[in-house]
Amino acid sequence: MNDLYRILPQELDALMVELGEPRYRAGQLLRALYHDFPAALVEVRALPAALREKLAAAGYGVGPGDEVRSVVSEDGETTKLLLRLGHDTLIESVLMQYPEPGKHPRSTVCVSSQAGCAMGCIFCATGQMGFERNLKAEEMVAQVVHMARRLKPRSEHVTNVVFMGMGEPLANYGETVRAARLLTDPRAFGLAQRSITISTVGILSGIDRLADQGMQVGLAISLHAPNEELRRRLVPTAGPHSVHDLVSAARRYFKKTGRRVTFEYALIDGLNDSPELARQLAGLLRGSGTHVNLIPVNPTAGGFGRPPRQRVVAFERILREGGVNCTIRAEKGSEISAACGQLRTDEDIARVDFVPLSGAAAAPARGRRQSALGPAPSPAR
Ligand code: SAH
Ligand code: SF4
Repeated sequence: MNDLYRILPQELDALMVELGEPRYRAGQLLRALYHDFPAALVEVRALPAALREKLAAAGYGVGPGDEVRSVVSEDGETTKLLLRLGHDTLIESVLMQYPEPGKHPRSTVCVSSQAGCAMGCIFCATGQMGFERNLKAEEMVAQVVHMARRLKPRSEHVTNVVFMGMGEPLANYGETVRAARLLTDPRAFGLAQRSITISTVGILSGIDRLADQGMQVGLAISLHAPNEELRRRLVPTAGPHSVHDLVSAARRYFKKTGRRVTFEYALIDGLNDSPELARQLAGLLRGSGTHVNLIPVNPTAGGFGRPPRQRVVAFERILREGGVNCTIRAEKGSEISAACGQLRTDEDIARVDFVPLSGAAAAPARGRRQSALGPAPSPAR
């Protein structure tokens, strides 16, 4: 099946012409796909039945995957979805909402770009499950569409997308960029390019290609260490000069796109959180025009712990005093294992029966505290 959520607007224009249809049909179809969020071609009622049949006969369809399970955090602000894509690929996506007084909440979808990941970062649950397969662009778009469909009854919208879920987006470059184009094309999902952030463990060729892509997407690079030796312990697939190479790549990205790069630094108790390392990091990044986002590590099976709060704050202070812009990431969703590095579709989850949530009986959310099924409740204000 050729998924219509894969096709860029200009390609859809061409397809309609090819099918002998007036071009405005492309506009009708795009509005239906990105405003009504249909789960199947038959639900695209904006098109005449004959055209739907023509599309189906030509092999086109709509298939954003099944929601196997959803879990909502106690405060209602974080929703984790387990999606089944294709026949047997399970992936997770997360919606994080940030209430804004008097306004609709900022609603960020954290998208997975691969099932599993080959990069093997020792503190990351996805890394520990190994690599399964690359996701297609339409499977990344589908994750956003599922969340948008849940928000719609509350008159809320997806406002931001971060490629920070399972997998390494720049190891799946072509599909990730196609997804970013679909999400930002004004005739498709229509987000501002600046509302999208791609996070990478540091695929240098991918960073440079992205800089040349002529897009205004944000870039986050997961650094985690200020020196080569320590970085290679945490990110075993890193090259021998990765720290140095990534700082240079960030400068190039900024020069070409005008967008400041964020370095992510997962702080792990006793491993990369010492004042000495903070000073090294400040020395490395001073004057580079980059920003550091400190992420106190979220618990995963590996036994890596989060440093005590005062150590996190001290690390931040040293960076700031050293002239480096820095923030500590506000934690979201860790109690439902929806936080950074906790996304993993393990055997336990795979054993859950596949029952779409739209079905009469949804699969029980086993082993999850305060889990809830069905549409997310309105965020507590
Ligand atoms: N592969 C990409 C994007 C997905 S990981 C990357 O590595 O950047 C998204 C972010 O979560 C990365 O910054 C990653 O380092 C971080 N992360 C992974 N495991 C984590 C954990 N256990 N606690 C906190 N952050 C983690
Ligand atoms: Fe892959 Fe990112 Fe996890 Fe590393 S942190 S294993 S690159 S998903």
